[in-house]
Amino acid sequence: MSRLVMKFGGTSVANVDRIKNVARHVKREVEAGYQVAVVVSAMSGKTNELVAWCKEAAPFHDQAEYDAVVASGEQVTAGLLAVVLNSMGLKARSWQGWQVPILTDDAHSVARIADIPSTNLDAAFAAGEVAVIAGFQGIHQATNRITTLGRGGSDTSAVAIAAAIHAERCDIYTDVDGVYTTDPRIVPKARRLDKVGFEEMLEMASLGSKVLQVRSVELSMVHGVRTYVRSSFDDPGNPQTGTLICDEEEIVEKQVVTGIAFSKDEAQVSIRAVADKPGVAAAIFGPLAEANINVDMIVQNVSSDGATTDITFTCPGADLERAQRVLMDARHTVGFKALETASDVVKVSCIGVGMRSHAGVAAKAFQALAEKGINIRAITTSEIKFSVLIDAAYTELAARTLHSLYGLDKVG
Ligand code: ADP
Ligand code: ASP
Ligand code: MG
Repeated sequence: MSRLVMKFGGTSVANVDRIKNVARHVKREVEAGYQVAVVVSAMSGKTNELVAWCKEAAPFHDQAEYDAVVASGEQVTAGLLAVVLNSMGLKARSWQGWQVPILTDDAHSVARIADIPSTNLDAAFAAGEVAVIAGFQGIHQATNRITTLGRGGSDTSAVAIAAAIHAERCDIYTDVDGVYTTDPRIVPKARRLDKVGFEEMLEMASLGSKVLQVRSVELSMVHGVRTYVRSSFDDPGNPQTGTLICDEEEIVEKQVVTGIAFSKDEAQVSIRAVADKPGVAAAIFGPLAEANINVDMIVQNVSSDGATTDITFTCPGADLERAQRVLMDARHTVGFKALETASDVVKVSCIGVGMRSHAGVAAKAFQALAEKGINIRAITTSEIKFSVLIDAAYTELAARTLHSLYGLDKVG
């Protein structure tokens, strides 16, 4: 029998009524003859609440205990969905990460899946059961501790399980009916894509399109899992197929720019009057790397006096305070005059494999943003994307401007 993984995100399981609706989608696939593994997220808002409780309990807390707390949201929805499925006459049981087991490393709060032995799930399918699995969580076997996979990690649970059980497909059900050219909540003219290539989806996810967790796209690419993003809000009796994440070769209609992503979780740090001599960049970025701070855009000015220069970089907003502390500690070795920071910034990125063969794509964007009076604080480019850092107040204007500029607006 063919197998299927169906994943439902937070909004799709936000209350018992929504869970009943999810159960109807599951029933349809069971009746179509599939052996089904369902992966669920916590009810929307629940994980945020659990994270906030950890911070309230102690601002700096043990990450293993953080995992014990935040993994609980998924336990509730998995149990509830199994209850509802049973009440509809379907055989089903809930599975927590450790019961499957979903084996991970010990990087608490950002763990990576190492292996998913399929024996237990095989037995459940053989017994005619739907396996309802708590997403986001796993176990580090050597320490016997619960782990979580990073925010948005249920997507990754789903794709990894699909690979482990050799599922024909992994359907990621969410609150939009597919992957769009950009976040449809910000740009109403965003267009739904029937297909999107792995590489572009990886870039979109890592540059802020939270519709899929980056790691889930990586796994789907590496293991060749056919993954669709589709809506749980469709009529369970008449669902649409959504967006397929696939090899670039499968895509007929090609644009230079496929999508626009933005990330508000950015902070800018400018180091003023740093000595312009060899070794300074190492003295700055070495300690930041040791502190596990992910530095992204880096801009260094050419020195005007031959003696000092300015260096600007960005890092995740959540790491800003730590970055400041690390730099102040290194101040005597680096030698600089002042540190300036800003967190009201956003990184807007344009992504498209067509950029490989087209020149001047980014230049067009700089011109268009200038015409709207939007100042660019920093720029980075790579083979299939470029990003600009701008004031957060201009997020929507910039996204809409670039969306129209590259011909992505939906017609009508
Ligand atoms: P879930 O709880 O189902 O995992 P998420 O909130 O994590 O859902 O992801 C879905 C959201 O991602 C959508 O509501 C949408 O606002 C946002 N999003 C951002 N970029 C895109 C995009 N390019 N296409 C579709 N949705 C996007
Ligand atoms: N509930 C977790 C989160 O909010 C995992 C997920 O929804 O994918 O990050
Ligand atoms: Mg999500």
